[in-house]
Amino acid sequence: MDRLGVYIHIPFCAKKCPYCDFYSVRYNKDLVSRYVDALVRNFRAFRDKYGIHKATSVYFGGGTPLLLSPAQFDTLLSSISECFDIDENAEITAEANPSMSDRTRLSEYRKTGINRISFGAQSFCDDELKALGRTHTADGAKRAVVNAYDAGFENISADIMLGILGQNEESLAKTIDIIGNLPLSHISAYMLKIEENTPYNCDEIKNALPDDDSVAELYLFACKELEERGFLQYEISNFAKQGRQSRHNLLYWKSLDYVGFGAAAHSCFRGSRFAVPCDIGAYIEDITQQEVITDDNPCTFSEYAMLRLRLCEGLSLYKAKERFDFDEKELLRRAEKYRVNNLLKIENDRIILTRQGFLVSNGIIADLIV
Ligand code: SF4
Repeated sequence: MDRLGVYIHIPFCAKKCPYCDFYSVRYNKDLVSRYVDALVRNFRAFRDKYGIHKATSVYFGGGTPLLLSPAQFDTLLSSISECFDIDENAEITAEANPSMSDRTRLSEYRKTGINRISFGAQSFCDDELKALGRTHTADGAKRAVVNAYDAGFENISADIMLGILGQNEESLAKTIDIIGNLPLSHISAYMLKIEENTPYNCDEIKNALPDDDSVAELYLFACKELEERGFLQYEISNFAKQGRQSRHNLLYWKSLDYVGFGAAAHSCFRGSRFAVPCDIGAYIEDITQQEVITDDNPCTFSEYAMLRLRLCEGLSLYKAKERFDFDEKELLRRAEKYRVNNLLKIENDRIILTRQGFLVSNGIIADLIV
């Protein structure tokens, strides 16, 4: 039986954050209920069309998935287990907003089968949270993590952001110190990126943000400090305690199959990439979800190498050779100038970007695999 990951996009938020361009709409109880019905219909349509697949991970992303009630998660997970053969050790993640920190409610979510929770903490400094337009406080985020742990979640992740308005090494050190004292097993540390159609895309904000050199320093500082606290880097922006790497996200970086459900969800399945249009109304009305092919040949060497080079284990030329025909000598010739500048290293058959290399990874990767 083919193995894959299942992604479910929950495109509802209580309030839109000014830097975010993920597809989401304001929470509406009736709309959410009709959306859950549409998801259930589409899990069944997938099963009827493609048969039952083994699911090694299930990931509810958003948006803000925990705006759904525990009963709605029960409905979704029961339906997913009717339509997929969920591995008994499957990682089942829900993203959460730290303002949802009620222990009793968190334990109800735990009982639905969700076994990993990922909080969009972004920072543990109130000034920075305010600058990001977030509704939670640093204390609220700490409480959310502790209550999730007490509610039975042993695998808890938090996102933090680098390059926030007013952030410096001192404030980042404070955030990382707090992380080190919380029962967290995974951290994603993303650099703030100005997205085109967001209120953040204005001169007032752009001129006030830390410059690129400062953000690079913050990134290197975060990598070092997280590692000292036992969070080992395994991807450009991701760090985990031993054995707690995100199994679902590793599917993306290892070019393995995943299927996405819901408006704005993406899939990589049977040799193609699909996207569901960003339109909740249309999603609910359609009998089966529309999937628009965005790439009918994603399994090229370029794509494979680009994703592998994001990982700290790097690109194994030996393994790549088993799948693709490419000019290994030319690749190594191009890699040499980055190696001498300490932007990558070559260990046995692997090309591995260094942290300095991760900071300019797009340029290096584009040059290596043209
Ligand atoms: S950052 Fe998260 S909570 Fe804020 S708008 Fe985006 S998806 Fe919603």
